[in-house]
Amino acid sequence: MDKPSSLSLPELADSVAKHLRLLSDDGCLGFDCSKKTTQILERGWGRETLPQIRAVLDKCEQCSLHDKGGRKVFGQGDKHADIVFVGLAPGREEELCGKPFMGEAGDLLTNIIGAMGLTRESVYICNVVKCRVEQGQKPGPDQIKACAPFLKRQIAAIRPKVIFTLGEVPASVLLGDKFPVSQLREKIHMFSGIRVMPMYHPDELLHFPEKKRAAWQDMKAIMRALK
Ligand code: SF4
Repeated sequence: MDKPSSLSLPELADSVAKHLRLLSDDGCLGFDCSKKTTQILERGWGRETLPQIRAVLDKCEQCSLHDKGGRKVFGQGDKHADIVFVGLAPGREEELCGKPFMGEAGDLLTNIIGAMGLTRESVYICNVVKCRVEQGQKPGPDQIKACAPFLKRQIAAIRPKVIFTLGEVPASVLLGDKFPVSQLREKIHMFSGIRVMPMYHPDELLHFPEKKRAAWQDMKAIMRALK
């Protein structure tokens, strides 16, 4: 499908600001001539492929989550997907399968995707953090900061039309501000010229079934936006 080719001036300004933030998150300290900065700039926004990013990720030891030595969970789906879903981090089941969103929460996400008239194979699913966190725990700020550049590089490679963030952390990583999903949902946000639509995480919907109504409203809004 065609990718968006033009941006309004505010969207362009937002895109430039987000791109500079992306470079900063990736370790770029400024526009000096150091080897590291040159490598980051040469890598560029969207010039890498998913297999290239995965090859770097597989060797990553940038945070303490690497110490467990388990399999990293890169992502799953269509490398040219128009729609990307972003969760927080893999658990034991995902680590064993090497795929994001397995188990009960994964089944619910699959149903949500199906209700949108799509399949898991036709979208792309990944997490902010690629190494497993212990059950009942969440990755810490340092681990999120270390791993988030991989997510942004994946998004740059895919260039989707819409990103659905599942839960608070993926939204804050892409939007730069920390707000509860209840305040972010039902609005279209932007990350580097790409629409971002925050949704509740499937785990939250399993724990608080009363939120499923709101999630359904989100889905309907999303489907309208996609048309
Ligand atoms: Fe590297 Fe991310 Fe794993 Fe940390 S969680 S070791 S940054 S791949």
